[in-house]
Amino acid sequence: MTQLFSEIGTADVSTVVAGASGSPAAAQPGPLSPFVARHLGPTEQDAEAMLAALGYASLEELIEATVPSAIRLQQALDLPQGLDEAAALAQLRSLAAQNQVWRSYLGLGYANTLTPAVIQRNVLENPGWYTQYTPYQPEISQGRLEALLNFQTLVTDLTGMEIANASLLDEGTAAAETMTLAFNARKQKDAKTFWVSAACHPQTIDVVKTRALPLGIAVMVGDHRSFSFDTPVFGVLLQYPATDGAVYDYEDFIAAAHGANALVTVAADLLSLTLLRPPGEFGADVVVGNTQRFGVPLGFGGPHAAFFATRNAFARKLPGRLVGVSKDTYDNPALRLTLQTREQHIRRDAATSNICTAQVLLAIMAAMYAVYHGPEGLRAIGDRIHHHTLALASALTAAGFDLGQEPVFDTLRVGVGDLQSDILTRAADHRINLRALDSETLIVALDETVTEADLQDLITVFTGSTPPLSHSPTPSLPHLPSPLQRTTPYLTHPTFHRYHSETEMLRYLYRLQNKDLSLATAMIPLGSCTMKLNATAEMVPVTWPEFGQIHPFAPAEQTAGYRKLFSDLETWLGEITGFDGVSLQPNAGAQGEYTGLLVIREYHQQRGEHHRNVCLIPQSAHGTNPASAVMAGMKVVPVACDEDGNIDVADLQAKAEKHGEKLAALMVTYPSTHGVFEAGIAEICAIVHDHGGQVYMDGANMNAQVGLCRPADFGADVCHLNLHKTFCIPHGGGGPGVGPIGVKAHLAPYLPGHGLVAGVGGDQSVGAVTSAPWGSASILPISWMYIAMMGGAGLKRATEVAILNANYIAQRLAGHYDILYTGQNGRVAHECILDVRPFKKSADIGVEDVAKRLIDYGFHPPTMSWPVAGTLMVEPTESESKAELDRFCDAMIAIREEIRAIETGQADRDHNLLKHAPHTAADLVSDWDRPYSREQAVFPTPFTRSAKFWPAVNRIDQAYGDRNLICSCAGMENY
Ligand SMILES: *Cc1c(COP(=O)(O)O)cnc(C)c1O
Repeated sequence: MTQLFSEIGTADVSTVVAGASGSPAAAQPGPLSPFVARHLGPTEQDAEAMLAALGYASLEELIEATVPSAIRLQQALDLPQGLDEAAALAQLRSLAAQNQVWRSYLGLGYANTLTPAVIQRNVLENPGWYTQYTPYQPEISQGRLEALLNFQTLVTDLTGMEIANASLLDEGTAAAETMTLAFNARKQKDAKTFWVSAACHPQTIDVVKTRALPLGIAVMVGDHRSFSFDTPVFGVLLQYPATDGAVYDYEDFIAAAHGANALVTVAADLLSLTLLRPPGEFGADVVVGNTQRFGVPLGFGGPHAAFFATRNAFARKLPGRLVGVSKDTYDNPALRLTLQTREQHIRRDAATSNICTAQVLLAIMAAMYAVYHGPEGLRAIGDRIHHHTLALASALTAAGFDLGQEPVFDTLRVGVGDLQSDILTRAADHRINLRALDSETLIVALDETVTEADLQDLITVFTGSTPPLSHSPTPSLPHLPSPLQRTTPYLTHPTFHRYHSETEMLRYLYRLQNKDLSLATAMIPLGSCTMKLNATAEMVPVTWPEFGQIHPFAPAEQTAGYRKLFSDLETWLGEITGFDGVSLQPNAGAQGEYTGLLVIREYHQQRGEHHRNVCLIPQSAHGTNPASAVMAGMKVVPVACDEDGNIDVADLQAKAEKHGEKLAALMVTYPSTHGVFEAGIAEICAIVHDHGGQVYMDGANMNAQVGLCRPADFGADVCHLNLHKTFCIPHGGGGPGVGPIGVKAHLAPYLPGHGLVAGVGGDQSVGAVTSAPWGSASILPISWMYIAMMGGAGLKRATEVAILNANYIAQRLAGHYDILYTGQNGRVAHECILDVRPFKKSADIGVEDVAKRLIDYGFHPPTMSWPVAGTLMVEPTESESKAELDRFCDAMIAIREEIRAIETGQADRDHNLLKHAPHTAADLVSDWDRPYSREQAVFPTPFTRSAKFWPAVNRIDQAYGDRNLICSCAGMENY
């Protein structure tokens, strides 16, 4: 019966769903792997029924009616046959086995860490956490918002600052963001130089340089002990402890910087701040860094959560997400994302940054690590590492090595002279990685996993013999002098003191998890975000040690498995998009946009066309597009959309002509952000090319294209993919993400490289855009597994079913709601927009009321007010079953009837089911004076009666939280 989705031994499918094109002459789509039926929601019978409802005899007919034939891919994707879960895992196991897990003491801002098992299993490996979406609907996101508030508190307390955001993509990016903040806030408008200490991690310096270039900022690298501010600089960046381990006292330098009107950023190791005086106490304006060593695996470079802490004065200039305390309708404290007016989705090209997806899941892990250990536990970890470092220092000094005179926390700079190659040979014999700073100096950085046996091995490696380790070593390095010692308390809030037993911790994690609606609860039909299945088999490899326990700068010989995985993915994504070159480096879609535009910029520069700096962006574009264009040094010129939501081709033509010589690029989303396959896409690309511009395609909607058409074939020069949308990496409650870009051959030389690792990117690379050479390497196995299990035929089928599901919803809801935009033959692509604007007038009901009422029915609301204000955008994805789609449609139809009751006067205009939504358990026990029943409020359907998802709080007052900014745990007590 299941010819549609289960294993078919032949491509000759004669029933409702024909093969690739139904034509025997076309390339044959091979058999579908059994995994395909598990990835897809609808069964064959379901699909038949849905197609019948739409009036098509086959899936192929629907696709023909929906996707413009001019851009249809004529052949099957050239990808390996799909595998079942076991076979794909076995193949990936053999790749993983080619990675070697050595002990890495390489430092550079990455450290081995002991992920508490209770956090690994119950957060990192738990779909209740990792399948959550970004907390735009705070009433059903209180759990992760509380975890993120803990993260912000952790960061502000340890850094000694006043306010911290809820995670950035990595330390290099955070440093680049602080440069932008300092540049925009500079007092001397002619100061165009950012001064960076040479003691910063080299990859951070590289990422900052890449970011500075298009903004016209000069980066000056120097030594803080000799720089005297004779050149006007608007900001400085210091590292604490320095990349070679030295802990400098920066107080005088910072005073001098302030005297010269420069803002000061300190890139700090958060764990060291348990012992070291925090930068907030010696004058830092901003503190950035990485929280990886708070229990987040190395993962060959990522994903990890970076942080950004500053003074309250800069709260409105912060990049990224910020969680704040507000209140709900009963004045109970309630959390939400605050000051969103800084962000790209509202401010567009005037945003403080282009951050959309950040690193929420990893920030939650780091916060939970701190909650579990508490301040004493963290201090003990810091102390132990520090004492191990001093013990090693004594032994090495006794053996005659020169360790310099600077105090250290966990990293030693060892002068080894001509012994270096002997030492490195012995290190290799012990499967130990050390960092060579130059030909006579080695760096060894310790971490919480280091045991006494490890110390013995290190001594053997350095000295060639095995002297006993002294348990009470005479320190050869100065102990931390008192001006460098921390004296102030941190993490005094009860949250960091209550959950130190595993039982309490487990229950805390589940208590928070249960407040949040994830894919483990119900469909999350968010337009443009593609909340599809994150299959467990795809997730399992992430925590294999061969992927998780590898330092980003481990030598190439130890990472052959990873490199094969990268090249597989680059090849497959290249085939799927039609592009010639792929970079896996960008850590999110928005970073892909920035990277792609840098590549375009470089292309124009290399051709001597420096003047090309105008970026055309349709009005309907995602906010990250204009924000990224600004970061790439471009000037944003909006292009109008017509009344069907398509790009206004006449306006595009006029703007392209007007800016002719200056035209750098068009950014276009396909299918459009209105969820439509624009028939004019090839013409649109041609217009831009005719005027010397390049076409950047925002590939967030790739879920509507895979296997059916390819961006490179219809005119795009660059495109990013969101692997956390189309290719099954989970959203993690707002990150991680991966935003690789594909480019045509003429742009491939400029793909991002890496200063520390050879062989990455093109030979005329734009530089590094992230700290790690392959960005978030450890989650790439997820997308590898997805493609390996689906195969070319399965991927194409997934796209077709995504389109089927969206059209089925549109069809069922038509007549109840207006479907705002449709393409040829009245069909939508993989998502559809429901117009609820008319209800404002007819019933005083806004989009928010409908969204919150949907929560009462047990659903996550669709995307609100984007790309059209006052509407809902629904994207079901291929993974949702017909039963779930029907349940959703039934809920939407029932809500329409509730609105109708207001329209007809049956229900009160002010006190009705929508205005008071979402309803909580607290509502039920309050004095019930509503003109509707408790049952209607919380059990509107039989399903909700049997499986109720309760929102944790009532409707949250959005404005109150912005006016009364409170962004750490302490604020919760003020209520
Ligand atoms: C999600 C999305 C982006 C941004 O991707 P992130 O990974 O969140 O940075 C850009 N454009 C569109 C249309 C999107 O849906």
